[in-house]
Amino acid sequence: MKNYCFLLLSGCMMFCFGCKQARYQTPEKGVSFSLNEERKKSIDSIHYEIELDIPAGKNERITGQEQISFVLKSQDRPVVLDFSADGKQLISVELSGEKISYTFENEHIIIDPRNLEEGKNTISIRFIAGDLSLNRSEEYLYTLFVPDRASTCFPLFDQPNLKATYSLTLKTPETWEAVSNGGLLSKTADGSRSIYKFGKTKPISSYLFAFAAGKFFKISESIEGRNMTMYYRETDSTKVARNRKDIFNLHAKALSWLEDYTSFSYPFEKFDFVLIPSFQYGGMEHPGSVFYNESALFLDENASVNKEMARASVIAHESAHMWFGDLVTMDWFNDVWLKEVFANFMAAKIVHPNFPRINHNLRFLLAHYPNAYEVDRTAGTNPILQDLENLKNAGTLYGAIIYMKAPIVMRQLEKKIGDMLMQESLREYLKTYAFGNARWDDLIGIIDKKTPLNIAEWSAVWVKTPGMPEYLVIGDSIQQKKDAVSGRIWQQKLVLGKIAVDSLLLNFPNSDGTGYGYFEMDSAAKSYFVRNYAQKKDTLLSNPVFRGSVLVSIWEGFLRGAGPQPDVLVSDILRTLPKEQNPLLVDYLLGNLQTAWWLFLTEESRMELQTDAENSLWGLLERTKDKGIKTSYFRAFKSIAQSPDGLVKMESLWDGKLEVKGLVLSEDDKISLAYELALKSPGNTKLILEEQLKNTKNPDRKAGMQFVVPALSADPAERDAFFQSLKKPENREKETWVLTALSYLHHPLRAASAIKYLRPSLNILQEIQLTGDIFFPGRWLHNTFAGHSSKEAAAVSKAFLSENPDYPYYLKNKIIQSTDMLDRAVELKR
Ligand SMILES: [Zn+2]
Repeated sequence: MKNYCFLLLSGCMMFCFGCKQARYQTPEKGVSFSLNEERKKSIDSIHYEIELDIPAGKNERITGQEQISFVLKSQDRPVVLDFSADGKQLISVELSGEKISYTFENEHIIIDPRNLEEGKNTISIRFIAGDLSLNRSEEYLYTLFVPDRASTCFPLFDQPNLKATYSLTLKTPETWEAVSNGGLLSKTADGSRSIYKFGKTKPISSYLFAFAAGKFFKISESIEGRNMTMYYRETDSTKVARNRKDIFNLHAKALSWLEDYTSFSYPFEKFDFVLIPSFQYGGMEHPGSVFYNESALFLDENASVNKEMARASVIAHESAHMWFGDLVTMDWFNDVWLKEVFANFMAAKIVHPNFPRINHNLRFLLAHYPNAYEVDRTAGTNPILQDLENLKNAGTLYGAIIYMKAPIVMRQLEKKIGDMLMQESLREYLKTYAFGNARWDDLIGIIDKKTPLNIAEWSAVWVKTPGMPEYLVIGDSIQQKKDAVSGRIWQQKLVLGKIAVDSLLLNFPNSDGTGYGYFEMDSAAKSYFVRNYAQKKDTLLSNPVFRGSVLVSIWEGFLRGAGPQPDVLVSDILRTLPKEQNPLLVDYLLGNLQTAWWLFLTEESRMELQTDAENSLWGLLERTKDKGIKTSYFRAFKSIAQSPDGLVKMESLWDGKLEVKGLVLSEDDKISLAYELALKSPGNTKLILEEQLKNTKNPDRKAGMQFVVPALSADPAERDAFFQSLKKPENREKETWVLTALSYLHHPLRAASAIKYLRPSLNILQEIQLTGDIFFPGRWLHNTFAGHSSKEAAAVSKAFLSENPDYPYYLKNKIIQSTDMLDRAVELKR
């Protein structure tokens, strides 16, 4: 382990348990690394019996009681339970029916060890459950306890390496469904209440304990002996019917694939999943009760191949977590990346055979490299393996480096040692640590035993240090530029592609797209590539992976000031698009087009290119036969269109007067059309939004719209009021709504009037980290700054950082990451 900070907060109350015991300091808030280590040593065999009484009203309190039994191995220190709530929520603490003395400090229940026995103890606690991580709506609620949020709901030992078994009883309103990790033992009626008793779980980490209850529909299916139940809220029964078979099949396939690969049967008692509207993530891997964002699984009729792939991937990802993360769990949250990388790594392997027509190398390239670079090119980047001194900051570890770079690194590791050895090592790892915990270095240890290569050395650079290498072509080889930070050597195999033109040989570094880093290209190669884009006769140019790799390098170069000029880049992309039929590359090009359009073009250049861009995109939208690509062009057109003609087209698509053959617009498309129209034709804002609100059938989407609408108002005072309302945590509860609202509040067309929101948004960042979900601080920052490209906006973040020199390290990095594109835009527009 690293050198963790063992400093405790100064000014803490000192405890004294008589002469024999050492003086003991009250633990700081959250779970510090030292508390984690102490408890791991002194406590095991934990079982929780939890009963929660959930009333119908979302504002009525939930009362609870629990028995915590555990084996205490030594009485040296007090027993510390975590309960991140107000002391008033703690009603009683008893041992064998007798009240015992305890203190409640820094969100911990601290019990004098002399009240307990060495060996088994059972503590009974009555409490009022905290709502913070219960995500309560009128008709349902669900838990999201990762990384250390279980303790906001009920008292427990909230750390991943104290795995425990859980038995849950839920009392709910009569008509509600309920689901949890354990199988349902019984459902009984008690007047107007239903009582759900769930069976004892296998040993799981506290962040994986979960339940959902409320008005859910449910469907059960059995595929090859595997019973699964899907809970969902979607009211559009056609949509459900269209997707249901695929969803069950994808799960069944993923699970049996994993059983095969790991040679370890599905480790938990049952497998259900819950589809939740506006769920914070794509999915969350609670064993036996996976939660998903409903919209990621119920696809619209016009879903692109990317969407289908994303759905298959998220299902495979969460399924893989049952083994990687749930069965074997990281010891401490600094290794959280490990479960994420395995889940992604397995998902890629699982999804490939299901989509034989997709170019998987290209998909891997475009799904991972650009997103990883987005963080790794910034000064705020971090290594894959980070230090973590207190669990309460675990959320800050998450991001593109974990989700995007780590899979690339893992793939390189597999290439290095071979896929057989990889599989063999992973099987040993799962067998050795089943229902327990392990670290990255434990796996490296297993691999290092089996190979003569020095994997620890490789890991020291790729996993334990931040940043990306830079390369240039010298003569006939690709050479790493001297690493500015530490002189590191980034071991990886690189391929140099060459195209002969007349008497010249043009160089295309990283032509197979597997290398990680910035590959500098010369302008002759770049311009040849654009002029001869996707030329069929040439083996390189006709290869989509090659095109993807070069496009990524060109974009990296563009952001680093190596040219071309923004307006040239936009024109190049517009010229390239008609030659591209690969949906993944079309999406990538359109993404870059929109970023360049809104952030890097000056207003004058935008005006010059407006007609051309709209006409090109509209023409492609009409001509393209592929439904998915058509939708991509529709979305790009919707984003860019601003001319009177473009707005008329958008409005006619929105009100149904205009139809494009093959283009099917979902309710979500209609809503976002309405948003764009409201933004771009301020005279009609109110009318359009009211009309759309009236036409929106789904109650969850309707509620989302009602939330977002004030952020789109043409009246600045109304937008100010909306922004002010975000300062109250209760108005940030539906985070996906907040993020949508922020993207319009700070839309490039409104950026000038939104600069005044930037500083206050930074001011509440720390509070947002405390009240919001783990991804939320980063996303809050991203959606706040993503629409800005002005010097003034850049100055706000600079001033904030210089005025707060001791700002928390991880949050500071998130700010630097989120404003990197803004800084580059300012630089390039000069
Ligand atoms: Zn995951």
